[in-house]
Amino acid sequence: MTDKTALQAPAFAPGACDLPWYRRALAQGAGYILPSCVFAFIPIVYALDAAPAVIALVALNCLAIVVFFAGSTLVMHWPEYARWLWLLGLIGSIVLLAVFPDSRPIYFAPFITCTSVTLIAWRHALVVVIATTLVGLGIAVLQGDLFGVVMVLMGLALALTVGLGIRYDATRAALREAEERTAVLAVAAERERIGRDLHDILGHSLTTIAVKADLAQRLAERDPAAASAQIGEIAAIARQSLKDVRATAAGMREVRLASEIAAARSVLTAAGIECRAPVALPVIGDADSELLGYAVREAVTNVVRHSGATRCTIEADAAGVTITDDGTGFGEPHEGSGLTGLRERAERAGGGFTLHTTNHGTVLSVRLPVPAPAPEGSNR
Ligand code: ADP
Ligand code: CA
Repeated sequence: MTDKTALQAPAFAPGACDLPWYRRALAQGAGYILPSCVFAFIPIVYALDAAPAVIALVALNCLAIVVFFAGSTLVMHWPEYARWLWLLGLIGSIVLLAVFPDSRPIYFAPFITCTSVTLIAWRHALVVVIATTLVGLGIAVLQGDLFGVVMVLMGLALALTVGLGIRYDATRAALREAEERTAVLAVAAERERIGRDLHDILGHSLTTIAVKADLAQRLAERDPAAASAQIGEIAAIARQSLKDVRATAAGMREVRLASEIAAARSVLTAAGIECRAPVALPVIGDADSELLGYAVREAVTNVVRHSGATRCTIEADAAGVTITDDGTGFGEPHEGSGLTGLRERAERAGGGFTLHTTNHGTVLSVRLPVPAPAPEGSNR
């Protein structure tokens, strides 16, 4: 975890900051917390035989517990020390219950443990969770309260579930962010390559054209024949450069696995289909890369046009590509021109094509030809 996430409340939802307070609370866990607030009023039931003033005090105390417990979903954006104070407020109001006979504060252990894993940094929350569990178990055992033991252990289990769930989500989000950064870097590297190619192709010829044009200008009056020869050369260089630029642009338009995966990512995302695609690709030759590029292009076009999928996964390794979607499949497997063309292309290259479709989705796989084993005795 980075320092930044250690400073934020684990259940902090950055996108919720501008929402109205009740939607912010819901986005930060109120949906889970509110139903359990009912339990906070049980001590009032136990106090019903006491004097009305005592009942009122117990009710006030219970209200304070609810405010600190449910209110924790509204203070996630506070600085760390303020969230600590809030947690201490909750712990204090629960401990305070002990002054009333028969109020069983240890039954509130889950309130403390769950609030700490959502409100303060994980390593601090762990200390609070362990301390609460040990103290709670100690008191429950001393009082011979079996239900108390159960409640304290439940507090431990709930806190670990919630805390580890939050950490898992945060790790996934960080991975996704890193993946997106890598994709952006790949695009930047490609731009740089195009820039370098353009400079290599045009830099030299444009300099030559400029020098020759200057010379032709100087020669124009003195030696028109020489000037005309220079202009002829300028035209030839310009034509050759144009050819080079066209060839380079055509090269850039060639189908390659990397560019098709990049295009797939953007078309799927634009179509509202979650895309899982590799960021690191196997090292394969141009012909193989072209075949796999076509496979990705055809499969992804079909996913967008026909599948109704919500998710599409592209896997690529040195042996081939597999494109999986969770769409409707095609009931009756039939192949139109796109899939037939792809199968033929794969078979012509000596590779394999498999298509598996059910009403839960479609899996299309294109395998590269297996390279012939090196002849015995060769030292390759
Ligand atoms: P085309 O895309 O031109 O229709 P294809 O050979 O690519 O031809 O696909 C044939 C048919 O198979 C499609 O028309 C479509 O009904 C079905 N199909 C192909 N891929 C998928 C998919 N991923 N999900 C659902 N249906 C598909
Ligand atoms: Ca198609």
